[in-house]
Parts: sequence; structure tokens; C-alpha cells
Amino acid sequence: GRQTGQRIRFAADSSNEWELSEHWDIEVELSGAQQRDELSLHYQPKLCAGNLRVCGAEALMRWHLPGRGFIPPDRFIPVAERGGQIKQLTLWALNVALRQANAWPHQTERLGIAVNVPAEMVAQDDLPDLIASSLELWGHEYVQLTVEITERSLLADPQRSFRVLSELRAMGVRIALDDFGTGYSCLAYFKDIPADELKIDRSFVRNLPHDAASADITALIIDLAHRFGMAVVAEGVEDLPALDMLRQLGCDEVQGYLFAKPMGNPEFHDWLKGWTP
Ligand code: C2E
Ligand code: CA
Ligand code: CA
Ligand code: CA
Repeated sequence: GRQTGQRIRFAADSSNEWELSEHWDIEVELSGAQQRDELSLHYQPKLCAGNLRVCGAEALMRWHLPGRGFIPPDRFIPVAERGGQIKQLTLWALNVALRQANAWPHQTERLGIAVNVPAEMVAQDDLPDLIASSLELWGHEYVQLTVEITERSLLADPQRSFRVLSELRAMGVRIALDDFGTGYSCLAYFKDIPADELKIDRSFVRNLPHDAASADITALIIDLAHRFGMAVVAEGVEDLPALDMLRQLGCDEVQGYLFAKPMGNPEFHDWLKGWTP
């Protein structure tokens, strides 16, 4: 069978043995993770760059495997994408995020809740119906859903993806382009992408303000996004000099360890109540 085949491959290349057998383990374990209640969502605040008020949060998946601690999403999300479990996991995340966000302390403005949606789902026609069902169950007037997608999602079938995204926007869902500038940027159809928000990847933000090239690219991305009516979010903001520069460049929202790391729902709840800009 398939698993045996993979095992033979581990043995054949000892330099990669750990990596690949780890992969095999994860795939087997992941299928039961949801049933065993090992998955949870952590939340990281997104703040308005100008006044540092909280405008929302991004939901980030966590998998706690008893006896082995947390497995980072960078390790198991790609495995779930290859193994076919990603759709189920995403729907789970969507429902949990909306349900938990409903119970957060409300401010006067709507709070955003952002969920990461994988490429394969953006290219499927049933995404709007699936999201509509979640919103019907858990939607709330104070909660604004944002779907974070990567540009990779648009490559396979741009026209179909644009149609799906337009349908979501018509339902009142915001669309964010995640990890912008990391390899799939296609300016040829940038003007046609139905998106409300553009997220500048951490790899650029990390080197602000001292690296001139990163600063130039960041300025360019902010200008480009604004010309197309999109808001700009910088991720991975870790220090004040970076924040200052992002503000100077007109960045709209910021997210990063400078303000808060992703937190479990109860901790995020408390953090929200305690945060003073
Ligand atoms: P992402 O969507 O780009 O999420 C941002 C990542 O940057 C998160 O890592 C977050 O914890 C981290 N981060 C935020 N601020 C800082 C900072 O100031 N410094 C540093 N060093 N890191 C920061 P995380 O939670 O490990 O997630 C990694 C990736 O896994 C995500 O990248 C996303 O691509 C994927 N992922 C996580 N949760 C989900 C999910 O529910 N569904 C899908 N499809 N993908 C997910
Ligand atoms: Ca994201
Ligand atoms: Ca990102
Ligand atoms: Ca990233």
C-alpha cells in the first residue's frame, strides 16, 4: 500500500529519514485529531496602525498531540492539503472562529475575524454555500468575517476563483490576499482580483526599517494596494521602528509580536478586555 511505499522511501534516503517519517506519522495521526479534540484555534489581534485600536483577529490553527506538544501549522497544514483533510479542517475552523468571536467583548465597531482558506477551496464552486451555512449558524451583527487566501489560490483557474470571491464579497465577506509578494504575484491580473485587503508578508516587514530594499518594496505594495482600493495589513511587526515606518508609509493595519502573540480563546478574551491603545 501507499504507506508501505513511503516507508521504503524513508529507508532509502537516510538524510531525509526523520523528515519523511515525521510526515507519515502526521498524516496518520491527523485523521483522528479532530475527533480526539486535539485541535484548537489561537487568535492574534489585528490593530489599526494609526491609533492601535483592535480591529479584529486572525484565527490560527493549533494541534496539541498528547505527549508531543504542539505541532506547528506549517508542518501539518501542508500534509492536510495533500492528504485531503484540509476542507474538513477549514470548515471546522470557520465554525469555531465565528462561534467564539460571537462571545468576545464587543466594542462600538464591528470586530473582524479572519480565517485562512486553502487554495483548493477557493477554486471550488461550493465555497460560498459552505460559508453561508456557517454564517447562518454563527454569524453575528458585530462580527465581520474575512477570508485570507494566498495568490496561489488564483493560479489554477483565475476566472472561476474570481467568481467565487465575488460571490463571497456579495455576501458581505471580506477577502484578504495573504503573504503578498512571496512568489506568486501576478500583476497582469492584479486589477481583476476581488480583494479588500492585502497582507504584506513578514519577510519584508522583518527587515524594516534598516533594509532599504524591503522598505522600497513595502512602500510599493502599499501604494499599489491603495490605488486599487485595498486596505494594507503588515504581518510580523516585532518592534517600534518597524511600526513607525509602516505608519509613515500609510499602512492601515498591523499584526505581530510587538502587540501580541496568538493566544487561546480565553486568553484572547482577557487580552481584549485589558488592551488600551
Ligand atoms: P500565516 O497565515 O501567514 O499566519 C501568520 C503567521 O505568522 C502565524 O504563524 C503567526 O503566529 C506568525 N506571526 C505573527 N506575528 C509574528 C511576529 O511578529 N513574528 C513572528 N516570527 N511570527 C509572527 P502560525 O500560527 O505558526 O501559522 C503559520 C502558517 O500556517 C500560517 O501563516 C498559515 O499559512 C498556516 N495556517 C495556520 N492556521 C491555519 C488554518 O486554520 N488554515 C490554513 N489553511 N492555514 C493555516
Ligand atoms: Ca493568514
Ligand atoms: Ca501571512
Ligand atoms: Ca506567512
